[in-house]
Amino acid sequence: MVRLIEHVIGGKKTAGSGKRRGDVFNPATGEQQAEVVLADPSDVDAAVQAGLKAFPDWAAAPPARRARVLFAFRELIERNMDDLAKIITSEHGKIISDAKGSITRGLEVVEFACGIPQLLKGEFTEQVGTGIDSWSVRQPLGVVAGITPFNFPAMVPMWMFPVALATGNCFILKPSERDPTFGVRIAEMLKEAGLPDGVFGVVHGDKVAVDAILSHPDIQAVSFVGSTPIAEYVYRTGTASGKRVQALGGAKNHMVVMPDADLDQATDALIGAAYGSAGERCMAVSVAVAVGDVGDRLIEKLVPRVRGLKVGPGTDPEAEMGPVVTRQHMEKVKGYIDRGVGEGAKLVVDGRGIKLQGYENGFFVGGTLFDQVKPDMTIYKEEIFGPVLSVVRSPDYKTAVDLVNRHEFGNGAAIFTRDGDAARDFCNSVKIGMVGVNVPIPVPLAFHSFGGWKRSLFGDHHMHGPEGVRFFTRLKTMTQRWPTGIRAGADFNIPTMR
Ligand code: NAD
Repeated sequence: MVRLIEHVIGGKKTAGSGKRRGDVFNPATGEQQAEVVLADPSDVDAAVQAGLKAFPDWAAAPPARRARVLFAFRELIERNMDDLAKIITSEHGKIISDAKGSITRGLEVVEFACGIPQLLKGEFTEQVGTGIDSWSVRQPLGVVAGITPFNFPAMVPMWMFPVALATGNCFILKPSERDPTFGVRIAEMLKEAGLPDGVFGVVHGDKVAVDAILSHPDIQAVSFVGSTPIAEYVYRTGTASGKRVQALGGAKNHMVVMPDADLDQATDALIGAAYGSAGERCMAVSVAVAVGDVGDRLIEKLVPRVRGLKVGPGTDPEAEMGPVVTRQHMEKVKGYIDRGVGEGAKLVVDGRGIKLQGYENGFFVGGTLFDQVKPDMTIYKEEIFGPVLSVVRSPDYKTAVDLVNRHEFGNGAAIFTRDGDAARDFCNSVKIGMVGVNVPIPVPLAFHSFGGWKRSLFGDHHMHGPEGVRFFTRLKTMTQRWPTGIRAGADFNIPTMR
């Protein structure tokens, strides 16, 4: 009997009415470790009904009271950090220290949301007209949903629900069906922190559950993170049925290495950013653009580092990189490496043949490095989402920036240089949502907002921070006067404030 991972609806665990199940693996051993229930539309509806029931009281609760629940939730996360990281490692595969780092990044959004009384203060103008005052407030939307990817089972949901709950919404999480346990733990800890039943629900599932969310008339907004084709589908379908949607998609993040860069720093940065979490990060650097004559020197420094990467199960404290998430994904990544070789890129380090003693059935791919990659090759154009770094040679800075700007994705990009002019021009002209100068993974902190450009984000709002508050609320503006017995009669002109 394998463990069964259930939905959480109205504060209670339930297998729901869906008969379908998904398999959940341990990527390090290749063994199935659990089954997850896959929702049908009636399960989604049950979670929405629980949310609708809870919404009036939750929305009416003073923001400070909502914040107190999040304070208590924050303490629970801190207290349970070791066990929570183990859940991520056992279903996703990433190393424990990286799993903890990802929880901490999510925790920062909880901390941001604890300041919600300040964030919801609104704006007031006294005397917009004689004896007339005007003010604006932001009010919650109602029941909203979050659909999240496998690669950050803690952090990405935590980009969404702390802000959604703090602003007074009820939230339904549809986690990735490949690593669904963390979502259930979130529900358990929120309940323990004092969140009323129904305010937060978890519904597991695949396309059936997603479609039920997108078409449900009582879900007001959908926050999505995943691959670009699905992000675009979620955006188009959700907005067509009248919902507010933010849908973050895939990426191909470039790091431009200028000839004057400190090459040891740039090499360290590339190794961490390309191979950390086995490349399964939307902000992973997957392309290094070597400008001018820096290419040969860079490759020389990278090769021993890529060969020396310590690959192992995520529970091994010595490991720098764990397995990828599923067998299917491992085959896909290896397929890209085959394709790169077939299309003429120079394979400098090949990670396809890796075998680990005791973990022969694990989903491992070793660190892989390509040189002489050209913009028309598949490994340059598509997101591989594995431990594969492509080096592209560029004759000069301008060609390098054009390359970044022409790519269909626009999540992150970095420049490594000691030249302030080049760095400033890069920040100003690059068509990318998050930019680093000598910082390889420029993920904004919780009090800023996270999001890409071009086909890395569909919608108008980035995630968490001030943009998150705007996404999960709508604006209402009041204009008020208290006339003391003066009657001006009917006015047929548009009101003007004089
Ligand atoms: P995915 O698109 O396969 O899945 C994301 C979510 O969509 C999951 O909850 C899944 O159940 C659901 N889904 C899958 N197929 C669907 C379909 N046909 N119809 C409706 N819903 C469907 O993504 P993934 O493999 O879980 O995650 C990796 C991807 O996420 C990468 O492309 C990565 O770049 C991206 N990502 C982006 C960001 C960002 O901030 N831009 C962050 C993390 C991950």
